[in-house]
Amino acid sequence: MSDWIAVFEAANSLEAHTLKGALESRGMAVLLKGEALSGALGELPMDAACVTLLVKMPHWQRAREFVRAYQQQDGCPWRCDRCGEENGARFEVCWHCGSVPEDTQG
Ligand SMILES: [Zn+2]
Repeated sequence: MSDWIAVFEAANSLEAHTLKGALESRGMAVLLKGEALSGALGELPMDAACVTLLVKMPHWQRAREFVRAYQQQDGCPWRCDRCGEENGARFEVCWHCGSVPEDTQG
């Protein structure tokens, strides 16, 4: 199976898992490459030098846009009113629950 495409290189395992969870919550399957397969699920191997995130080809563009926004967090992050998740400045909607900041509808 070679239809996995690298979309991001995380600096460490924690970042990789953060992005993996975020992408998976949006319906995109994520494969981590470069991480030591220790078999221990509870603890993250923090000594991994670099972890590559791979996604399926149909998801690549969405995933790429997501990680690019993640990388461009050069403004003030905002916290979602609905779920309390912290979002990067470039996120127009909460990546976690999809609600918009200062939501006036309803
Ligand atoms: Zn939210």
